[in-house]
Amino acid sequence: MDTKRSALAALHAQADACRRCAIATTRNKIVCGVGDPDSPLMIVGEGPGENEDRQGAPFVGRAGELLTKMLAAIGLRREDVFITNTIKCRASTEENGRVFNRAPMQEEIANCREYLDREIAIVKPRVILALGAPAAKSFLGAGFGITRQRGIWYAGPAGTDLIVTFHPAYILRLTGGQIDAMKRLVWSDLQAVRRKLDELKQDAEMTDGLAASGRAEARPLHDDRVKAEELKLF
Ligand code: URA
Repeated sequence: MDTKRSALAALHAQADACRRCAIATTRNKIVCGVGDPDSPLMIVGEGPGENEDRQGAPFVGRAGELLTKMLAAIGLRREDVFITNTIKCRASTEENGRVFNRAPMQEEIANCREYLDREIAIVKPRVILALGAPAAKSFLGAGFGITRQRGIWYAGPAGTDLIVTFHPAYILRLTGGQIDAMKRLVWSDLQAVRRKLDELKQDAEMTDGLAASGRAEARPLHDDRVKAEELKLF
């Protein structure tokens, strides 16, 4: 096993043994990230639902099917990217003997942040696509408003470029004309991701070319990112 894969396997075992939150005792399987650990793109969702909890893998239910289509729309296969979640245990609530998914609590997100940060440190993505408000808030603060602040590049953790779009589960809950309106927005965000990945590839090729030709430094990446603290300005 290569170094990244063995580091991720060790992290998975530690997360599996974690009991910081009550949901560690109600969940079935721990759900850590999967995919290509060498991918420049990491997708971060909210947290496992019923299907993910049963299978121990992220985005394997209906939202996952839509995510796969979203990635395909920009020429990426699921297995080419690294897919993970803000929390690794299913956040659920029980009513009349039935178990429902619920949004993660701030405390659960904070408790699980270490595992997400370690995944980021191991995979070293260049770009993070956060899906939905809870994932965005975990990176950009509780004041993040997805309607106004999605589709913009931010300075993400560990030097990444971070962008937020709507969660596929949210799109699946919409009806009628709302669906197309939402898909147009998501499409523009996905295209921004595609452009960013293409730019990074071009920059890497240029650096390689310059190094091979013995010339000095490549031009720096242009920095069009908004910092998290700048969000508070408006
Ligand atoms: N929704 C998420 O945010 N993550 C999953 O893994 C599945 C559904």
